[in-house]
Amino acid sequence: MVPQIVSKNGNALKAREKVKDFYIKIIDKLLEKIDKKNVIKEIIIEKGFGSLKAKTKSNASETLSKEFSRETKAAAFIRDALPGSPRCKICAGYLPSRLNSIDHIKRKADGGLGTLDNAQLTHAYCNTTYKN
Ligand SMILES: [Zn+2]
Repeated sequence: MVPQIVSKNGNALKAREKVKDFYIKIIDKLLEKIDKKNVIKEIIIEKGFGSLKAKTKSNASETLSKEFSRETKAAAFIRDALPGSPRCKICAGYLPSRLNSIDHIKRKADGGLGTLDNAQLTHAYCNTTYKN
C-alpha cells in the first residue's frame, strides 16, 4: 500500500506527508475499534489517498523471496526516513539519499528473507562490509 502512495507522489521524500497521514488514518480507525481486516478496506473506499489496491496473492508469495522487491525497499526507506533525516542502522550516521542501501538484518546466508521486517536502511558501504 505504501509503495503505491509513494509512486503516486513521485518519490519517497515527496510522499512522506501522505504516508504519515496514511499511518495516522490506520491508527485512528483502530482506535475507533474498527476490525483490523476492515481498516484497509475502509481507507480504500474513502479514496483519500487516490485509488489504492489491496495486496494480491502474488505479493504474498513475493515476501517469501530472499531478495527485497522494489516495493519492500521503498517501504523500508519510508519507514526509516519518516522520523526525520534518515540515519544508517549500522553506524547511526546520516544517510545522503543517494548513498543509502537496504540491508538484510538477518543475512541471506543465515536464512533471512526479503521482507520489510528484515529490511533496514544503511550506508551502502556499511551494508557491504563485515557485520558483528
Ligand atoms: Zn553507516
